[in-house]
Amino acid sequence: MLQDYHVHALAHGEYEYTYDWLKKFLITARKRQIQELGFAEHDEFLSRIDTSILKRLQEEFPDITLRLGLEVDYIPGREDYIRQISQSYDFDYIIGSVHFIDGWGFDHPDLRHLFEEKDIDQVYSRYFELVQMAVKTGLFDIIGHLDLIKIWGHRPRRHNVLFYVESLLNSIKAAGMLIEINSAGLRKPVGEMYPQQEIIELMASKQIAVTLGSDAHHPRQVGEGLQEVRGVLINAGFTHRASLQQRQMEMLPL
Ligand SMILES: [Zn+2]
Ligand SMILES: [Zn+2]
Repeated sequence: MLQDYHVHALAHGEYEYTYDWLKKFLITARKRQIQELGFAEHDEFLSRIDTSILKRLQEEFPDITLRLGLEVDYIPGREDYIRQISQSYDFDYIIGSVHFIDGWGFDHPDLRHLFEEKDIDQVYSRYFELVQMAVKTGLFDIIGHLDLIKIWGHRPRRHNVLFYVESLLNSIKAAGMLIEINSAGLRKPVGEMYPQQEIIELMASKQIAVTLGSDAHHPRQVGEGLQEVRGVLINAGFTHRASLQQRQMEMLPL
């Protein structure tokens, strides 16, 4: 039972939220045996979501359970705004993601070169500190692409990555939150899923529940890499993944 909970029909704003466009995502989902599909636009495009289109698509694709999510940029100070936009639709889930470190959009190709000027361990430390802050807000159901900081292939030098994530995983577990296994990293320079296998294994030992997402920004990317994700999860000992409806969780077989 595959799911894809991280799909951006609007990508970075260049497409329109129309019936015909969204239908293309469902056609790919069906081909790749995705049984649960969640559209989760970036929060800046919130006003362009049209739930009537999702209702019509659900009628046309009864074999795929459609969900409505949102991917929210976590930036300290944004908490009230996030609380407010989370009420703007009947969201099934809210993904909290860190894309900015103190104003630096580190995952943007134009800003990638700034890694060269920084101490990579300090970057890792600050990045995971921000993710930890996102968890502590209690505003999110799912943490998106947990180790996105590795996107361009930069690795910490003084410590193994587990040093940076272990206490974060404990907080996520204590908060009852989920971690997304995101296949987009497989098509990025780093060439591996988010988070990496060692972290997935540590998550398994702590029994942290997961969702799966492709981070598709185009219909052809729906479900891409998720069979591979499922294989890694099963090898790590996972048997189930989470499903969310109106922010209520249930566990379904992988
Ligand atoms: Zn993201
Ligand atoms: Zn995304």
